[in-house]
Amino acid sequence: MLTGQKGLFVPGPTNIPHDVQRAMNISMEDHRAPDLPDFILPLLADVAKVFKTTSGQALLFPGSGTAGWEAALTNTLNPGDKVLISTFGQFSHLWADMCQRMGFEVVCIEAAWGEGIPVAGYAQALADDKSHTIKAVLATHNETATGVSSDIGEVREAMDAVNHPAMLFVDGVSSIGSIDFRMDQWKVDIAVSGSQKGFMLPAGLAILCVSEKATEASRHSKMHRCYFDFADMAKLNEQGYFPYTPPMPLLRGLRVAIDRLMEEGLDNVFARHHRLAEGTRQAVAAWGLPLCAKKPEWYSDTVTAICVPEHVNSSALIKHAYSQYQLSLGAGLGQVAGRVFRIGHLGDLNELMLLSALGGVEMSLLNAGIDIEPGKGVGAAIEFYRQAAQASDQPVENKQQNAEKLAFA
Ligand SMILES: *Cc1c(COP(=O)(O)O)cnc(C)c1O
Repeated sequence: MLTGQKGLFVPGPTNIPHDVQRAMNISMEDHRAPDLPDFILPLLADVAKVFKTTSGQALLFPGSGTAGWEAALTNTLNPGDKVLISTFGQFSHLWADMCQRMGFEVVCIEAAWGEGIPVAGYAQALADDKSHTIKAVLATHNETATGVSSDIGEVREAMDAVNHPAMLFVDGVSSIGSIDFRMDQWKVDIAVSGSQKGFMLPAGLAILCVSEKATEASRHSKMHRCYFDFADMAKLNEQGYFPYTPPMPLLRGLRVAIDRLMEEGLDNVFARHHRLAEGTRQAVAAWGLPLCAKKPEWYSDTVTAICVPEHVNSSALIKHAYSQYQLSLGAGLGQVAGRVFRIGHLGDLNELMLLSALGGVEMSLLNAGIDIEPGKGVGAAIEFYRQAAQASDQPVENKQQNAEKLAFA
């Protein structure tokens, strides 16, 4: 019999706040009701604010992040088009694989798992492409498999440096709503997210924002598509409806999830993720285990991927943590299967929740025979969180003012 709560520390799905959960527990409603646009139109406008775009259009498709990738590709490109991508983890690998399977010509720069986007390699490929045959540049903002974040602004700079007209598509599935994402500033043409990570919902929605340039490209794209057609969706969205039955409970949940992000203030959300991640990294350092991410500039604030010693199998460790302590950790995927385990620290989370996960990891590491002084990693995190709280100590009433200041205009 299970007692207490299970610990969900995979990097998606993430914990669902109670008010979001309650908002989804509704009687089924009429998705063609006359007053639905009063709900849908502001919701779409607020999704765009989370992506930091005023010119981009938010689109919500039933599906997951993977569907978002497919929608981006099939709406804007033409059969056989050349796309530039880099693979450095399981998710970037899968996106490249999708490009291949959909018949695009894939220029793939392989980087070591644990590194970020090879911006110099992108710059070279773009500079060499004098006749502009590359139609889209694909970038994985946060590689969830390795706990690596890359600088999308640098990718944009590499494109602009040679005036390359390709579109920029970004996978922000495990970053948007948790790590700063600036669609307009970086001139991202399509940003893809999903509901079950930073948006704190069940899986089921592909959440996209599409630039005017990508919308224009979609008018000339000859790829076959139907369910994920931007134009069909946008036409009905404009009126506050959908071209087919939308998952209303998820949309009601999304409303409350975005309200929460707004109330906390996006900058505070990002700062919280950074703080929680930093404490996790302090614990890992105290355990003496290396991160999969090779350099601090790539450390992810939403997921930490940790390498286990040679004699330990990370899959067995994860299994043990689950059966012994009801703690779910992220598995090592693809190339790093068995070598890496991951702690997801995104979404609705605070210090105490994360300390419970770090405690469970530490016990599991000890049980696996790894030589750690009990409390070492948890102690390092405790000390970090304690000092971080003291540094930012402020009366509660100021926090409300801050939230108002930082909430969306
Ligand atoms: C989770 C994730 C995806 C998409 O996965 P789905 O299971 O289809 O939602 C894509 N990219 C990244 C970086 C992810 O973390």
